Amino acid sequence: MELYAILGVTADATLPDVQRAYRRLARRYHPNINPGDQDAAARFRAVALAYEILSDPKQRREYDQKGDAMLAEAGGITFAFERFDFTASAEGPAASTFGELFADLFRPPRERSGRAERGADLHADIAVPFETAAEGGRHSVTTTRHDVCDTCFGAGRMAVPEAVCPKCAGEGVVRGARGHMVFSKTCPQCHGDGRRQAVGCSTCHGEGVVMRGQAIDVVVSPGVADGDEITLSGQGHAGRFGGPRGDLRVRVHVAPHHMFRRDGDDLLLELPVGVHEAALGARVEVPTPYGAATLRIPPGTQGGQQFRLRERGLPSLRRGRRGDLVVQIRLVLPPLVDERARALMRELASIWTEDVRKG
Ligand SMILES: [Zn+2]
Ligand SMILES: [Zn+2]
Repeated sequence: MELYAILGVTADATLPDVQRAYRRLARRYHPNINPGDQDAAARFRAVALAYEILSDPKQRREYDQKGDAMLAEAGGITFAFERFDFTASAEGPAASTFGELFADLFRPPRERSGRAERGADLHADIAVPFETAAEGGRHSVTTTRHDVCDTCFGAGRMAVPEAVCPKCAGEGVVRGARGHMVFSKTCPQCHGDGRRQAVGCSTCHGEGVVMRGQAIDVVVSPGVADGDEITLSGQGHAGRFGGPRGDLRVRVHVAPHHMFRRDGDDLLLELPVGVHEAALGARVEVPTPYGAATLRIPPGTQGGQQFRLRERGLPSLRRGRRGDLVVQIRLVLPPLVDERARALMRELASIWTEDVRKG
């Protein structure tokens, strides 16, 4: 029975026996303890597979009945080993994460690879439609940022099983001779500790952080102006070696509107008005970002004259009220489409004798 042999247990081993054997062997052959060691990686996969089957009562019963033929059915044990990915086993129901697996055995690295550093700020740009300035909105920003390495929890190095330093045999000093002089110096490998030192993490190559793509939701407040920067505190790059995250700084680009021109919180709108409306007075419909409003134009209104619609501008980020919508009148001449229109205009000219340039 191959799988029992792999775990070094007998066929009547209890579930706790199987678990203990798995933990012992997984710790020895885990790829993070043996970076680059293909033989250890293959053994680890075999151990993980054996554990997967023997720790599951249903699969174990089947294996006890069919024996190694069960493995052959799955395309042979070699095939089974090949398809077995240890990262997947870490997510399986039976296995545990690397951290859990080793938590009770490893001493934490006493020193990290480096000093804690605050993560760098991340910069991003978003383009929003004009309407967002009036109503606010949510936008997703796709970032590629440093995240804390899951394998070493940001330490940049892996703790190793309690073991004496192979260089100094646990003494912490190495001896040498120069001529008649015998001297001893601090072991260069364990720095005098006498125990094996933590090894660099193979996932993050000792950085403590890995690059990862991430979509981050940005809430844009009403009143946002083109060029404003939104700071999402703690959403930047992860800090190295336990340092805090940097910030995410999002520059907002607000698209211009085809009618409204912005002046701080106020909006400026040029409104075409017929000469007859301006002369006689009228009620006209005015578009605003919040739907149409009615503006009463008094008789005798001149071109260029401005009217203010209170609080129909943009929300203010500072003040508690909206800005105004400033409506500037642009006079539109009537088209003189026929002889009657021209006759009326001539009649107006005959009674309007005032010099318009003297105002
Ligand atoms: Zn040493
Ligand atoms: Zn790492």
